[in-house]
Amino acid sequence: MTIDRKFWLRSFSNNSFPDWPCPRCYKGILKPIENGFQYGETGDTQREFINSGGSLKNSDRTFHYSVLLHCGQCGEYVASGGQGFVYEYMERENDEIVLDVAGNPETDFTELFSPEFFYPPIPIFHIPPQCPKAVEKEIIASFKLFFSDPPASANYVRKVVDAILTEKDVTLVSAN
Ligand SMILES: [Zn+2]
Repeated sequence: MTIDRKFWLRSFSNNSFPDWPCPRCYKGILKPIENGFQYGETGDTQREFINSGGSLKNSDRTFHYSVLLHCGQCGEYVASGGQGFVYEYMERENDEIVLDVAGNPETDFTELFSPEFFYPPIPIFHIPPQCPKAVEKEIIASFKLFFSDPPASANYVRKVVDAILTEKDVTLVSAN
C-alpha cells in the first residue's frame, strides 16, 4: 500500500479542493456545500494591519477557515477547519514564465489553505473490511491527528502495530 504524500500535504485554494475521500463509504469524493467554505483574516493579521497603517505585506497575512463538505455517494457530511496564508507565484503563459519590461518574472498572489482537522476523520488510506475492529479503531485515531499533530498521529501508528500483534497473539516483551 502506498500513500501519495504530495496529495495529503499540499495546500489548496478556495476554488480548487483536493479530492478528499469520504470516511463513511470510501467511494465518494467530498465536495464543499454551496457557500460552505468561509474564511477570515486572523486577529493578529487585523491588528498588524492597523499597526502598519494599512500597509501590511501580503506575506504577513494569515487566515482561519472552516468548510462543510458533503459526499454525493452516501450523503455524509464532514467538517474541516484550518489555516491559510498568502502565496506569491510566478505568472505563466503557455508554460512560459511571464517577464516584465525589466526582464523580471511577473508575480501574483493567491490565498492557500491547509487543513488542521476533519470531522469525522477522513481515511488517509483504505482500511480493508477484514481488518480487526481493535486495529481499525487505532488507525482511525491516527487519521484524526494526521493534520494537526503528526507526532501524536505516529504514536497511534505504534499502537496499531501493538493492536495487530495482540490480534495475532504475539506476546509483547520489553527489550530491557
Ligand atoms: Zn460517502
